[in-house]
Amino acid sequence: MTIRVGHLYPDYLNIYADRGNIAVLTRRAELRGHQLVVQPIGIGVELVPGAHDLLYIGGGQDREQALIAPDLADKSEAIRHAVAEGAALLAVCGGYQLLGRGYRGRDGSFMPGVGLFGHETVAGTKRMIGDVLLECELEPGAARQLAGFENHAGRTVLDRDAEPLGRVLHGFGNDGTSGFEGCRLERAIGTYLHGPLLPRNPWLADWLLAQALAHGRGGEPPILEPLPDELEVEAFRVAAGRARERGGRR
Ligand code: GLN
Repeated sequence: MTIRVGHLYPDYLNIYADRGNIAVLTRRAELRGHQLVVQPIGIGVELVPGAHDLLYIGGGQDREQALIAPDLADKSEAIRHAVAEGAALLAVCGGYQLLGRGYRGRDGSFMPGVGLFGHETVAGTKRMIGDVLLECELEPGAARQLAGFENHAGRTVLDRDAEPLGRVLHGFGNDGTSGFEGCRLERAIGTYLHGPLLPRNPWLADWLLAQALAHGRGGEPPILEPLPDELEVEAFRVAAGRARERGGRR
């Protein structure tokens, strides 16, 4: 099957190799006989309703965010509609911040967001930098861990009824105090984790692919054939170890 991916602002939002997430999705889809077709969606490019099974937006610093924020705000309805009708979505750091109601940056200016996730972000003075380990439960009863690297000044506060992606075991997470990291809404996931995220967390790549396949062909997300993942498991082990050594939230 063809999995149609819309990659938002690849030229602007690609910090800490976030584009590597697309490479992982492409390869893992191919190994299961599916083809990922990736459409770059830059400034001024229309987001056609129903055209994508998965949307992806990476991270960037305030400067890059400010460059794309007005265009992204124009796409708000199309993005919310895509998720409401079952498309999968992954948003990382700067992209994650702008998928909430908005981000007040270091210079005090406010960038209005998409309003997909129930959260708001305000830049603090101290950056939250380091390795992170989370526990997530995307499917009830199936707790999994995610490891990654965070570097953000923004503090993201979730609405009471917003669902976090996971609980912080080690690291800062959304705001350094709540113990929450990221946000999840149906098949959409937002997170601060870079690294890039997916090479060391292949189960999440497969979760996203399965959700995207379900969007494309209807029905339940398929169970994907397991892959050996020896290097991936080792990469996770090293990243998780670094997060543990850092000694948790500070
Ligand atoms: N500009 C944002 C912040 O510092 C996002 C940074 C990032 O994407 N790494 O909070």
